[in-house]
Amino acid sequence: MEVLKPLIEKLVAIVGADYVLTDKTDIGLYDSDAETLDKAAPDIVVLPASTEQVAAVVKLAAAQKIPISPRGAGTGLSGGSTCVRGGISLVLTRMNRVLHVDPLERLALVEAGASNVSVSQAAAKHNLYFAPDPSSQVASTIGGNIAENAGGPHTLKYGMTTHHVAGLKVVLADGSIVTLGGAARTSNEIDLSGFFIGSEGTLGIACEALVKLIPRPEKVETLLAYFQTVGQAGQAVSDVVAAGVIPAAMEMVDQLTINAVEDYLGMGLNRAAAALLIIELDGPGAAISAQRKVVESCLQANGVISLRWAIDAKERATIWNARKTAFGALGRIAPHGYVLDGVIPRSKLAEVIAGIEKIAQRLNLTIANVYHAGDGNLHPCMLYHRENEDEVRRVMLAGKEILELCVEMGGTLSGEHGIGIEKMMEMPLVFNALDLAMMGRLKEAFDPDGILNPGKVIPNLKTCGESGARPLLRHKIMAGC
Ligand SMILES: Cc1cc2nc3c(=O)[nH]c(=O)nc-3n(C[C@H](O)[C@H](O)[C@H](O)COP(=O)(O)OP(=O)(O)OC[C@H]3O[C@@H](n4cnc5c(N)ncnc54)[C@H](O)[C@@H]3O)c2cc1C
Repeated sequence: MEVLKPLIEKLVAIVGADYVLTDKTDIGLYDSDAETLDKAAPDIVVLPASTEQVAAVVKLAAAQKIPISPRGAGTGLSGGSTCVRGGISLVLTRMNRVLHVDPLERLALVEAGASNVSVSQAAAKHNLYFAPDPSSQVASTIGGNIAENAGGPHTLKYGMTTHHVAGLKVVLADGSIVTLGGAARTSNEIDLSGFFIGSEGTLGIACEALVKLIPRPEKVETLLAYFQTVGQAGQAVSDVVAAGVIPAAMEMVDQLTINAVEDYLGMGLNRAAAALLIIELDGPGAAISAQRKVVESCLQANGVISLRWAIDAKERATIWNARKTAFGALGRIAPHGYVLDGVIPRSKLAEVIAGIEKIAQRLNLTIANVYHAGDGNLHPCMLYHRENEDEVRRVMLAGKEILELCVEMGGTLSGEHGIGIEKMMEMPLVFNALDLAMMGRLKEAFDPDGILNPGKVIPNLKTCGESGARPLLRHKIMAGC
């Protein structure tokens, strides 16, 4: 720490002594995101209050080639903000204001550390909202959503974060401040904000975002439906889309999850069902009535056990609370959960779920399944005990095998949680050496010294277990990969 003293003094001069953390206990709180298999503490935590402070901190780090990893709320599920090379964890949660809501242009200017939900809350008086709704939306920040190109249950109809961002104010690796995109629709430039969204903190630090708002739908209808097999539920999902209806959301959970949620909330869920489907329709009243009929007939054609439309907003909120607390409820089964994020073609749902079950049996693991079924985005959740090293090894192995299965089925590695450190070594499953080299060149163009969030996303194929200097449990366990 002595060697970092001059740097710390300069950081204190920029953000104030209260916002530079170096105490072991304090920095220990920032040693991982919500993917807690991989832990590596930063050397220093810095909490800036403005874009100018971010720029000054980055300039300092750049001059000394100190790694700097941006961080929002730390709810990421791929180790994205974990400081695998040490250095500075730059936490943006003090920059949490919704600066301006423009109901005429349907835009909001927000600081990157604002929580997702605070944007919709600020826009509510104009009957507008910010559509991307990750289940972590109460905590996760707009900056984190942008970096991961976050989705959520309503991505099926409304798209990912990238579809709802008009422009960005970004601090680049040399500390310069640039604006990407903007309020006016344009096609006279390379879409740099589109390029930046999903780059997981490796190209720059988003400080402000101009986000798009959309009107609340005239009518919303939410349905709960139970099935005897996951296959029937999966087929019903495919049939609804094939029949020409794009619901706002189609979410599925398996029996293990139904029971965990019922244990937690006691809301009268059918514990015997193999799968629970939540379907939400929204739009003009007349269209919804027609769509209800189509959805019901698709469910009935696939042997639905029972279905129930929520009678009011309160019941709808209860249903969504059940879905959004599913991962938390699974904590009743085992203290730790490792949530994966594979994507598959919707039509392969039953086949892949059967494959995951086989992996669970062979490796003697408990795996719960929560899916954004409408867009084929799977979240198998492996339940484990961290102190049981052999179980952790099997969890990591299962994670690798499930991702391989998704790719084999024509899918990919991540629908919304990003690559981070978690899936970096699996990147060659979907990208060839040329693809990866091109990504590396783009990264180099933005960050020639590689100080921004190093050891993430793009694997260095020359070294096995490349994730940087800090020893990660992942590498200890998977040594010899
Ligand atoms: C219970 C639970 C449910 C979840 N549900 C969903 C879901 O439905 N959909 C979904 O997409 N995700 C979900 N997630 C994952 C996570 O919430 C999202 O990835 C979220 O976008 C992360 O936001 P954050 O502020 O916590 O970012 P962090 O975890 O702090 O960081 C995530 C990444 O963003 C980078 N970053 C953060 N801020 C900035 C910035 N200002 N500029 C540049 N880079 C930055 C970090 O370096 C890191 O790479 C869930 C997580 C949990 C724990």
